[in-house]
Amino acid sequence: MSPRRLFVTTALPYANGNFHIGHIMEYIQADIWVRYQRMQGHEVNFVGADDTHGAPIMIAAEKAGVTPQAFVANIAAGRKPYLDGFHIAFDNWHSTDAPENHALARQIYLDLKAAGLIATKTIEQFFDAEKNMFLPDRFIKGECPRCHSKDQYGDNCEVCGAVYAPTDLINPYSALSGAKPVLKSSEHFFFSLSDPRCVAFLEDWTQGVDASGRSRLQPEVANKVREWFSVRTNQDGSTSEGLGDWDISRDAPYFGIEIPDAPGKYFYVWLDAPVGYLASLKNLLDRRGQDFDAYMADPALEQYHFIGKDIVTFHTLFWPAMLKFSGRKTPDSIFVHGFLTVNNGEKMSKSRGTGLDPLKYLSLGMNPEWLRYYLAAKLNAKNEDIDFNADDFMARVNSDLIGKYINIASRAAGFVAKRFGGKLGAVSADGAALLGSLRSQADAIAALYDSRDLAKALKETMLLTDRVNAYVDQNKPWELAKQAGMDARLQDVCTVCIEAFRLLTIYLKPVLPGLAGQVEAFLKTAPLAFGDAATALGEGHQIGDYKHLMQRVTPEQLDALFEAPAQAEQALVAPETLAPGGEAIAPTISIDDFAKVDLRIARIVHCEAVEGSTKLLRLTLDVGEGKTRNVFSGIASVYRPEDLIGKHTVMVANLAPRKMKFGISEGMVLAASHADEKAQPGIYVLEPVAGATPGLRIH
Ligand SMILES: [Zn+2]
Repeated sequence: MSPRRLFVTTALPYANGNFHIGHIMEYIQADIWVRYQRMQGHEVNFVGADDTHGAPIMIAAEKAGVTPQAFVANIAAGRKPYLDGFHIAFDNWHSTDAPENHALARQIYLDLKAAGLIATKTIEQFFDAEKNMFLPDRFIKGECPRCHSKDQYGDNCEVCGAVYAPTDLINPYSALSGAKPVLKSSEHFFFSLSDPRCVAFLEDWTQGVDASGRSRLQPEVANKVREWFSVRTNQDGSTSEGLGDWDISRDAPYFGIEIPDAPGKYFYVWLDAPVGYLASLKNLLDRRGQDFDAYMADPALEQYHFIGKDIVTFHTLFWPAMLKFSGRKTPDSIFVHGFLTVNNGEKMSKSRGTGLDPLKYLSLGMNPEWLRYYLAAKLNAKNEDIDFNADDFMARVNSDLIGKYINIASRAAGFVAKRFGGKLGAVSADGAALLGSLRSQADAIAALYDSRDLAKALKETMLLTDRVNAYVDQNKPWELAKQAGMDARLQDVCTVCIEAFRLLTIYLKPVLPGLAGQVEAFLKTAPLAFGDAATALGEGHQIGDYKHLMQRVTPEQLDALFEAPAQAEQALVAPETLAPGGEAIAPTISIDDFAKVDLRIARIVHCEAVEGSTKLLRLTLDVGEGKTRNVFSGIASVYRPEDLIGKHTVMVANLAPRKMKFGISEGMVLAASHADEKAQPGIYVLEPVAGATPGLRIH
């Protein structure tokens, strides 16, 4: 059998925040599948990337006072500890803002245009005249037309659940500037998904089978998708037959990829996001000196995307149609998983920041493979939600993983080392029968991994550990060791245990790659592949010293993992002290976090009003650098420029320069104010006690 060639991706995370446990679950699921395929000798390219474009990132970057490029680079820089920490072995991690993605997205668009599947239509949209931009639905707020709740988003009401168009809102306002938006028309580009060619292709593709004859989509996903072909509910509540065309353009300003021959028009972020799969692969192959086009043109290549159930539309309609009609390979399957809840709680949400924090998990010294094992024990090939339950977690790790599996090695290894110089012995008939029964399960367990039924693969493996432990209890090596003349039998029994442990390690290796590495070192064997289940270490094989392979999880660790942040506890105890100065104390930071902020004493060399602004003063600051800095500060309502000249203050000296309407601001002056200026008016610029000189750092 020649090796399969697989191209595998996970969904691209939006680069506006760190990974949450939902991301990590998806990556672990895909990583286990990829590791299994590699253990079968198949060739896999497994890639990911940051999804970087769109209005939310553009706006977040503006708020942070940095360019969108710097904003997403900062997010990307934080990815590695998560991926390394949980043994998630992507071959490449790239960005949808990379040149490969710009080029591929533009080419795919041009190919779709040449196929006659791009149309233009003039539509009316809300426009923020103060910000000079069209407003995405999530950035328009107003009163719900149905229940009249205030401050609802432009696409749906969070109070009564109504779905509507932003133009239906009563008294709409821009969430960016507060301005009343105006309707403005603009030409938009559409991908003609309603074209009969697209409909015919997608009906067949979504309900069809892949090269191996398996349904391309999971049955529950295929059923859901089928509904979209018959009837569709529009934003205004009316219904249409079949698929609608897809609006793929956004107007400047927009952080994204400019549409060819359409100045000021950008691809909607969801157009170029999945192209990022190809861009990341191309970047990987280019660096290896491999030809991307030739790789993709190989008819034997299989392409799979692991995704969550919230982005099925993009991956089962838009993405395959984009690929098909731009003359490219379409995915073989889309693997959809459900959401992860924690302790029967709410869906993991990055905005709420609750639940299981992956970095906190690692920082508590909790073993990443406990989590891999636990999630694998819950994941099957369906898109059901799964729950992380702390008690269940402890039971499965301590009772199953350690109690049933790890213990097999620890019960036998000591005798082999002490009594037999580390050498394995001959195996008699009863032991051979046990090992044979373990080996005979190799194909069944392999098939379960291949079909992503990880829960069943682990369940079957744990049933095998029960058989081995029954054999150990029957033969009691610790008693054999005390009996005279039983050395040969002791070596026989311990050898069976070690051989069984090796077989079980093969079956668990996709889930526990780090542990398997330790076992390989202990057994003095080459990296284990699935085919090694057919072999044995054999009589006379010398194993190494056994070191304890895995600790148990403790209740204290789980308590610490789910301990509420100190701030939340304070809120329960003394709500009246919750908000000094009108706002709660920010979450605790480390001294290292503080050290990132470089605060310096500055002398205000000059200060003047800013023409055209009632809020800002322009300050010229000396921070002892041999040059001065220009800083704008919103203190014009409380200070006269001449009162500040000559005074010392404190400035943030390493804040990224920020381009403002009146010029570049090269830092920030520290000033105190109440969060609600109506509750307590006043802004107070900080001034050090006499004697401080420009350039001194605040420690
Ligand atoms: Zn409502």
